[in-house]
Amino acid sequence: MQKENTHNWRDLLAKAEETGELNHSELLSLLLCDAANKEIFAVADRVREKYVGNEVHLRALIEFSNYCKNNCLYCGIRRGNLHAKRYRLSPEQIIALAQKAKECGYQTIVLQSGEDAYYDIAKMQIIIKEIKKFSVAVTLSIGEKTAEEYQAYKEAGADRFLLRIETTDKELYHRLDPNMSWEQRRKCLTYLKDAGYEVGTGSLIGLPKQTRESLADDILFFKEIGADMIGIGPFIPHPDTPLAKEAGGSFELALKVMALTRILLKDINIPATTAMEALDPNGKILALQSGANVIMPNLTDGEYGKLYDLYPGKHSDTSAPEKYRQELQKQLQKIGRSIASGQGFHGEFRKNLQKT
Ligand code: SAH
Repeated sequence: MQKENTHNWRDLLAKAEETGELNHSELLSLLLCDAANKEIFAVADRVREKYVGNEVHLRALIEFSNYCKNNCLYCGIRRGNLHAKRYRLSPEQIIALAQKAKECGYQTIVLQSGEDAYYDIAKMQIIIKEIKKFSVAVTLSIGEKTAEEYQAYKEAGADRFLLRIETTDKELYHRLDPNMSWEQRRKCLTYLKDAGYEVGTGSLIGLPKQTRESLADDILFFKEIGADMIGIGPFIPHPDTPLAKEAGGSFELALKVMALTRILLKDINIPATTAMEALDPNGKILALQSGANVIMPNLTDGEYGKLYDLYPGKHSDTSAPEKYRQELQKQLQKIGRSIASGQGFHGEFRKNLQKT
């Protein structure tokens, strides 16, 4: 019996590498089989090299407001966390940070915030238009909006949008994201695709009562919606939230879901997430060696970066972005990788290969 199982996971993995197709029960058996982990990471690394190459894309992250109207039980900046000290950057401050990022060589600026109505369409349009003047790609990660708002930001020049589905287990979602609707979040992803964005989504791993079955659903969901980017991170309990005493997700399981996502979705962009780095000091490198091809260095001004406190251990010191970049370059060189020069759109690597 044991032997049959061993055979089974190797066959499944070979099939996944070759075809990019696994059904739910096949994915589930890989998710349940810890003995397969090392090999899954190795296959994901191979698939990554073949489909997106050895370049690592850097996206400069600017967390511009931690005000949030939502009350997600896992999140440190949830409305109900009265200990959170709130801040908002002015459009001028945001634009200045983006300019600094561009001067340091970043080709993509990611603007992230809580769901903060202060930044209305007019303000966001100005911010996006000004930042686009620096000839960078602009990614937004500002939550659920109407189809019209998404359209307006796209017209202002935004290129990509990140909106994690968080989990495909609807019951779990509704328990953890009170007064929010899973269907609405799903609809937002459709609005974003329809508006012409590159769409990033993803999920939290290790939420209380989350099952491996639902993790298999998550991966199939990413494939079904044709995601351009997937961010997978372990859930890390925040002390000032109702989930403070929960166990949280493991680094290994988050890495595994990420690696399987790479094996099935092939050429999409996958970041080594900050939450992975928060759990393991070598997390970024391990993720890059298990399917990831993107890093999102935090360029938020020190003081504010600390206040964008989604979970403990998140804050990294990027007060000297030039130095950070040089260090990173050295780390990447050691594992045979380099900092990318392009803007890193989905499919760029293969298109360039065909040209040469
Ligand atoms: N308001 C935006 C951005 C949310 S913060 C939006 O709704 O998309 C970005 C991501 O941080 C979330 O999507 C969530 O997956 C992650 N996050 C929040 N709390 C976390 C925690 N305790 N541990 C790990 N990741 C967390």
